[in-house]
Amino acid sequence: MPLPKRRHSHTRGAKRRTHWKLSAPTLSTCSKCGTTKMAHHICPSCGYYGGREVITPKKSE
Ligand SMILES: [Zn+2]
Repeated sequence: MPLPKRRHSHTRGAKRRTHWKLSAPTLSTCSKCGTTKMAHHICPSCGYYGGREVITPKKSE
C-alpha cells in the first residue's frame, strides 16, 4: 500500500477544501398544485408524481 511520506499542513488541507461548498437543491414546480418541490420526488403537499396520486398526504389532525 502506498503511503504518503509526509503529512500535509493544515493550510494545505484547507486550501484544497476551498472548493467545498454546499449548493442549494434543485427545485421544480409541481404540475398539480404548483408548489416548489424537489426534482424527481413526490410532491410533499399533494402527493402527486408523474401525473397521478402516489401517496395521500396526511391532513393535520
Ligand atoms: Zn403538488
